[in-house]
Amino acid sequence: MRAAVMWDAGKPFDVQDIDIASPGPGHVAVDLHSCGVCASDLSLTIAFGQPTPVVLGHEGAGIVAEVGEGVDSIQVGDHVVLVWVPPCGRCAPCRRGDDYLCANRRSSADARAGKTARPSPLSVNGTSIHQGMATSTFAERTVVPANAVVRIDDDVPFPVAAMMGCAVPTGVGAALRSARVQPGDNVAVIGCGAVGLNSVIGAVVAGAARVIAIDPMEDRRALALTVGATESLAPEQLDELRDMDVIIDAVGAPATVEAAWKAVRRGGTVTVVGAGRPDKVVEINSYELFHDDKKITGSFHGGISMHRDLPILVGLWRNGRLPVEKLINKTADLSEINEVVTAQQSGEALRIVLTPQL
Ligand SMILES: [Zn+2]
Ligand SMILES: [Zn+2]
Repeated sequence: MRAAVMWDAGKPFDVQDIDIASPGPGHVAVDLHSCGVCASDLSLTIAFGQPTPVVLGHEGAGIVAEVGEGVDSIQVGDHVVLVWVPPCGRCAPCRRGDDYLCANRRSSADARAGKTARPSPLSVNGTSIHQGMATSTFAERTVVPANAVVRIDDDVPFPVAAMMGCAVPTGVGAALRSARVQPGDNVAVIGCGAVGLNSVIGAVVAGAARVIAIDPMEDRRALALTVGATESLAPEQLDELRDMDVIIDAVGAPATVEAAWKAVRRGGTVTVVGAGRPDKVVEINSYELFHDDKKITGSFHGGISMHRDLPILVGLWRNGRLPVEKLINKTADLSEINEVVTAQQSGEALRIVLTPQL
């Protein structure tokens, strides 16, 4: 099957034929019809310790092609979204409903954390190839544990379904679940990539009064206004922000977190959904932390449990409340992955969805 292999960290992908094993007990094979390139796919190898060679990609959707022994939760022919935070269902976070924090998740960061990753089903000429984020969606097919897929209605177009695997839950969830935006809140979102724009949409869904979108690119600010932002600002204007109820930082750099901290009101909330670098430190005045009663929260996967919350996201999309299509520029074949990465990184495109299955 065709896959986009990254042989060395940060280098362009080679789209080539590789081998994939059949699904073993408890696993399923999924033919991938759409997958998105998320910024974190690329930072994985450079900043987060993902070993190579690897097939990256964690935002994908497709059709179940084969099921391994003992799988009864999913059937061949089901349309599914890949879940890069598959819950074990048994650990303490899973039992308390925070299954996106599953303690038994095995991921690309395992090598850095000193844990052993699951054996990979991918190889070429006898050389094993890692599965990025344990999903590997930059390929015609992937094999994952049955709990790493969740069924989605057949009428949801694959490009929309793919974005339901990462950008949508992460961004919308940051507003709804992590920041808990309330009706009438004044909200600002820093960074209008796919996640930030979904946070704008999430704030609108939650009933925010003002939603201010902040991004250096004029196109992205304009796009934010089309998905419900009430105002937009360039980053140089961040100092003008005062007394916000909630600020969602979809960048995660010390400068943006600190600017958000200043601009949020006493008792307000800063939610950081952008993946910061492991070596960067945010400085917050500890007197202010006490005196101003401000809150700062992380937001991993938007605090979304895919098995519980995907139907909610689909319901919002179905009724026009989640305009995911506006965030998709076009589709492209998997062979064009390097051009797609360049177009997204330069800001020329927001999301070009790859179509691995022809
Ligand atoms: Zn992602
Ligand atoms: Zn668990």
